[in-house]
Amino acid sequence: MIRTAAYTRDLLPASLSNDADASAFIHRFQLVERIAQDWFRRYGFQEIRTPIFERTELFARGVGAETDIVTKEMYTWRDRAGDDREGESLTLRPESTAPVARAYIQHQMWKHVETARLYYIGPQFRRERGQRGRYRQFFQIGAEVLGSSDHPAVDVEGIELVMGVLAEAGVPDLELRLNTVGNAASRAAFVAAIRAALANHLDALSEDSRRRYETNPLRILDSKAEQDQPLIAALPPIQDFLDDECRTHFDTVRRYLDAADIPYVVDARLVRGLDYYTKTVFEIVSHAPSIGSQNALAGGGRYDGLVETLGGPPTRGFGFALGLDRVVLTLPADRVPEDRPALFVIHLGEVAFERALGLVREARRAGLSALLDPTPRSLKSALRLANKLGARFALILGDTELTSGQWVLRDLARAEQTTVPADTWLHHVQTLRG
Ligand code: AMP
Repeated sequence: MIRTAAYTRDLLPASLSNDADASAFIHRFQLVERIAQDWFRRYGFQEIRTPIFERTELFARGVGAETDIVTKEMYTWRDRAGDDREGESLTLRPESTAPVARAYIQHQMWKHVETARLYYIGPQFRRERGQRGRYRQFFQIGAEVLGSSDHPAVDVEGIELVMGVLAEAGVPDLELRLNTVGNAASRAAFVAAIRAALANHLDALSEDSRRRYETNPLRILDSKAEQDQPLIAALPPIQDFLDDECRTHFDTVRRYLDAADIPYVVDARLVRGLDYYTKTVFEIVSHAPSIGSQNALAGGGRYDGLVETLGGPPTRGFGFALGLDRVVLTLPADRVPEDRPALFVIHLGEVAFERALGLVREARRAGLSALLDPTPRSLKSALRLANKLGARFALILGDTELTSGQWVLRDLARAEQTTVPADTWLHHVQTLRG
């Protein structure tokens, strides 16, 4: 048997899964996607679908050459040379902010709107060490606001949207963590302070953090290594290095969150892994027991330099990404019932079968989900099948019914049955269902 590749998985209809664990049931993903799509509509976002692979340099430049994603986790290969070009280096997208920013530049969206508000739903690929809540293909729902404004209201609106989606989906025990990483100048001052503070303690740092000390000291704050924690705790907070503009921005974000009744905690150590953030950064975790250690559900922030880094005009940006696989892990098992067919049409005999084909078509055209199984079987066996499929009603068609012009309609949930006239049967099903 050939199985899925390591740390990838099939998302299945619950009724076709051997697994009692609901974390890969497709209808739970669909529920969150539908809720998100509705929130995006309300907030004036439009969907964008970018390719799942891009030129490697997009991520090297857009995510940051020194990040874990780019150094360790990307699926990259050299394409075969074609008629028209040499084989180029391509990469499965590990995230979608850089692709959306690329699309913004490629299509010169600033010529059409002052602010582009775009959302995406789709798979991302990172070669991570898998565990519960961490996969090599995972799904994100994300959004980007690209344009002229860096007003704190833009940041708060984005946070409000993602909190709204999570709350409506039914995610328990949410916590919003907030911080600022300042602008280029305050980051440079902070990085210098980190370097100075750690210069005499390099031997005590973990190997990863020692490397980051050289390449990207901010990322030391992300370290989970036990031995790094006392050193990290002793670092001054980035707040000490903010200039007036960044400080005012952060204070305003906090004030607007308070006004919107969105609780948060300030986490001075939150810097997030990617290079492109400026000012506001945030992360949303759930303390639901079902999620385990990978409890970050969503993250994002402001990235005013990204579009320019990728060769576009100076552009302000704010965005977030929500990890769908993890959101689904936190949802209570009974949160969403799976879709079941409304009607199962049972045919007893050859003549009834041909008539049943017409009836199932009629039901479907009227918008009902209706099933018919062509294999001839006894009434008892057909009813058993209808129950197994979870159908709400069975329509029973045999010789007697064909002669009388009265169909038998059985309510499978209540185990009751009635007869309905052939010319109004569909109407009956619809009213009973209603
Ligand atoms: P990031 O793009 O790293 O900021 O991630 C945003 C969100 O995507 C995280 O908060 C997670 O919920 C989710 N996520 C990131 N990496 C993975 C992964 N390997 N497997 C599942 N979800 C992930």
